[in-house]
Amino acid sequence: MSKRVVVLALGGNGIQPSNSKGSYEDQFKNIDVTAKQIAGLIESRYKVVITHGNGPQVGTIMTQMAAAAEQVPEQPMRICGAMTQGQIGYLLQSRLQYHLLKMRGAPVPVCTVVTQVVVDKNDPAFQNPTKPVGSFYTKEEADAIGKANGYTMKEVAPEKPKPWRRVVCSPKPQDIVEIDSIMQLLDNHIVVISCGGGGIPVVRAGDGDYEGIDAVIDKDYTAALLAKKVDADFLMILTDVEKVAINYGKPDQKWLDSLSSGEAEDMHKRGEFPGGSMGPKVTAAIDFVRWGGEAAIITSLEKAREALEGKTGTIFRK
Ligand code: ADP
Ligand code: MG
Repeated sequence: MSKRVVVLALGGNGIQPSNSKGSYEDQFKNIDVTAKQIAGLIESRYKVVITHGNGPQVGTIMTQMAAAAEQVPEQPMRICGAMTQGQIGYLLQSRLQYHLLKMRGAPVPVCTVVTQVVVDKNDPAFQNPTKPVGSFYTKEEADAIGKANGYTMKEVAPEKPKPWRRVVCSPKPQDIVEIDSIMQLLDNHIVVISCGGGGIPVVRAGDGDYEGIDAVIDKDYTAALLAKKVDADFLMILTDVEKVAINYGKPDQKWLDSLSSGEAEDMHKRGEFPGGSMGPKVTAAIDFVRWGGEAAIITSLEKAREALEGKTGTIFRK
């Protein structure tokens, strides 16, 4: 039997928990635990593509860039995004290689692909920057930085002493530039890490070229696109909750075991899944099964294996 293909989308917590400052040691330890879990999950039964978030890491790099701007030129966000793909890819790749070797008794190739993701120049998201990135500033700092760099700055956390941040646009992913490389690696049974942080956003520039832009593509939407493009059987979105709920956080909260895409869509329309967190995951799950994927599963990293065996998690089918 040919191996089934699974795309794993890792949330920020699998890399850097919210209570961590993001030291090297912290990230190493955390990714090591994550990699061990993934290695156990994938065994030898699946071809696997892994994608991951990069919110805290890209924020850290942008803060470092801004702090050192008088000594060395600050780099645009697309470079910071590429740096996080290398940084997280390296750690994940190295820890997966180790744990897969231990489990299977022979080396298993793992490879990170620095990935550009195409967005549409005319995406309506470009009219309205919504995604906060990088450091927090006072109003005076924000005004100066905005003016000097042409950034859009917004007051995003009024309760904080430094409530202002840069905001960028969040267009929808349309295509993956390196998809042929990803497919070839997968066909050769290489575990692939790609599209980190939703991918480095690029627009078609004519003449076959692509131009990098400063934006953030939602990693959950990119995961769904990646799963479609590699013709995956399963999309697993791994976050910090075991299941999706309705009435989340309210007294009548109810955890969901399985949903058709129609049921999920109705709940989403009723506002059960907020835009900045569960909303994009549910949209990605619906999108993937409607396209033809067998199932999408939303669960926690710890429960991933049980969920893939159908024992927990929220499973979406067409
Ligand atoms: P990730 O870093 O994995 O993308 P997010 O914080 O963006 O994680 O999204 C996961 C969070 O979504 C959960 O920690 C939970 O607090 C929140 N959430 C919001 N609505 C729901 C819901 N209806 N069911 C489950 N979790 C929800
Ligand atoms: Mg998220």
